[in-house]
Amino acid sequence: MTGDLTVTFHGVRGSTPCDGDYLARYGGNTSCVALEREGEAPIVFDLGTGLRSYGSQLIGDGRAAGFQATMLLSHLHWDHVQGLPFFVPIHHPDSFVEIYGPRQNEGPLGEVFAGIMRPPYFPIRPDQLDGTVTFFDAGDDDFAVGEAKVRSRWIRHVGPTLGYRVDWDGVSVAYLSDHGQGCGIGHADDHVPDEVLELCDGVDLLIHDAQHTPAEFEQKRHWGHCTVDYAVHVAKQAGARQVALFHHDPSHGDDMVDLLLRDARDVSDRLNGASVVAAAEGMVLRFPHD
Ligand SMILES: [Zn+2]
Ligand SMILES: [Zn+2]
Repeated sequence: MTGDLTVTFHGVRGSTPCDGDYLARYGGNTSCVALEREGEAPIVFDLGTGLRSYGSQLIGDGRAAGFQATMLLSHLHWDHVQGLPFFVPIHHPDSFVEIYGPRQNEGPLGEVFAGIMRPPYFPIRPDQLDGTVTFFDAGDDDFAVGEAKVRSRWIRHVGPTLGYRVDWDGVSVAYLSDHGQGCGIGHADDHVPDEVLELCDGVDLLIHDAQHTPAEFEQKRHWGHCTVDYAVHVAKQAGARQVALFHHDPSHGDDMVDLLLRDARDVSDRLNGASVVAAAEGMVLRFPHD
């Protein structure tokens, strides 16, 4: 038993799953990141299409039956929810998953989620899965998940969206997958809201939206995402140790992401900021136990 915390990226793509040689290295599955510590139930950020490959890994490890986890859902856009029914462990009757996600105006989170996972859009509803899925409404909250402390805060995107921070036995990880710079009232493009600083304050790892180049952002500022430079800026402002560029645009092939990563490292070096990586499908970051 090592006690190390591992962060595994199963899906890193923004907006829609995509495929092709041009993105073979970074991958085309959408948002899903698993935090794991031996002997404890995992904590998973988002249920994008990457959740399917996480399930395959669990089957390979013999951990699918009786699987238990907590999943922290950022928001209900397609690219963050589609993986749930394809997550094979949840088809075992003794599996149990608790999903926390953003409180919805239309009703309890579980009912709203069932509104997108039902016929004719999908053959079955969440309550027809063999395993048990329980939904919890969250907003600006602090709660315990096993030995971990979880903090959720509203962040700027299109529709109700949460960012999360997990503090787990001396290691801290913040997750802001979809975060729109400048889209709060009166916010300059480089403004970092207090809630974001609170989530990211001194974290070991910040996983942050990095969908746009500056030119793309000018065309798409109403999409609720941000530039790679803004992700580096947030990390610097919050004193994060490492930032993982995440939610890559579907049009950004591997060479483009390499280029964005190189530029982001230059910017962060000049600022004396965080170390920078570009999240890639299958990438594992390991944080040693203190
Ligand atoms: Zn998204
Ligand atoms: Zn979104």
